[in-house]
Amino acid sequence: MLLVSEPILGDEEKAALSDVVECGWITMGERVRAFEQAFARHHGTSDAVAVNSCTAALHLALEGLGVGPGDEVLVPSLTFVATANSVLYAGATPVFIDIESLEIPLMSIADADAKCTTKTKAIIIMHYAGYLADRHTWRDFARSRGLVLIEDAAHAAGVYGAGTFGDAAAFSFYGNKNMTTAEGGVVLAADDAVLARIRQMRGHGMTSGTRERLSSRSPTYDVTMLGYNYRLDELRAAIGLVQLKNLEWWNSRRQELTRRYHRRLSEDCPNVLVPFQVPRDAAYHIMPVILPSSADRAQIMGKLRDAEIQTTIHYPPVHSLSFYRDRCSSPRLSQTEEFARRELTLPLHPKMEAWHVDRVAAELARALAG
Ligand SMILES: *Cc1c(COP(=O)(O)O)cnc(C)c1O
Repeated sequence: MLLVSEPILGDEEKAALSDVVECGWITMGERVRAFEQAFARHHGTSDAVAVNSCTAALHLALEGLGVGPGDEVLVPSLTFVATANSVLYAGATPVFIDIESLEIPLMSIADADAKCTTKTKAIIIMHYAGYLADRHTWRDFARSRGLVLIEDAAHAAGVYGAGTFGDAAAFSFYGNKNMTTAEGGVVLAADDAVLARIRQMRGHGMTSGTRERLSSRSPTYDVTMLGYNYRLDELRAAIGLVQLKNLEWWNSRRQELTRRYHRRLSEDCPNVLVPFQVPRDAAYHIMPVILPSSADRAQIMGKLRDAEIQTTIHYPPVHSLSFYRDRCSSPRLSQTEEFARRELTLPLHPKMEAWHVDRVAAELARALAG
């Protein structure tokens, strides 16, 4: 079966894990710290805070920037549910925003503008499929309205400058992302004091960690804020350090495969719309296409499955999920709904070869032909 995504793990990761086991210090030690610094360097910031998921990272970014009860946060509906969940964790209210178009399925600035109220406190933009939103447009938008700007950069690891648009950003190292630690995430923040607060909130709000108490000989600690246990361990950080070394070439491999998809699909499936035709900075996280309006997506997915090609959907819109439908006033997000109804995600990962892309395009053409 050709999978939509696959982690790449090998001997280097095995050796890194084994080193941790031998050294005996298994959580929040020098590897976590080294991983934070290496990740920050790769994205053009001076530091980072490693956590155990992107969801935790989003929660800490919101709370670290003072978003809380009574605040509204603009979020895309075309995203993974965690983006909106994190807003609820912070006690704030998510307000769902439409995408720009089927061609550019990123949050619409016009719709964001229309949905700003006196309660709007923050915006979370999401770099869908790894294609970066427009930095200057969103920065100006947030600045002119005095809003906190957060990036859900779960799809954009490895793109220099991703995570530096606004006040804070969250990355994911879940198993299907461009790099993985099995589970894990990172927070970046523009303001050092905010990042320091986030670091403290990651570990129960304690003023020092186990490691620091060992080296500083100060036996006690204080708790000065409500914190969480969002720590990353040394085993995951060790894998992350290896993955990070490969990330750049994996992403360029994803770009080559994406370019080939564009060529093959325009020849084999001219009635399929491929978003992001206009080049922009990207991590090429997934390969979304838009089927013809009349196509039966479930049937096409079944035919591709019979041809041993896995496909998925990114995403069922969050505002249409039962939990959110029942608790939020359900807006009409026409572009998001149309996109989600017709979207199909094709396999894309660095283990694929050019001939895999050719086969997927040919099988998709065959499935569409009926
Ligand atoms: C994967 C993902 C998340 C959640 O990441 P975890 O590390 O699993 O918490 C959040 N937002 C988006 C857009 C994602 O794709």
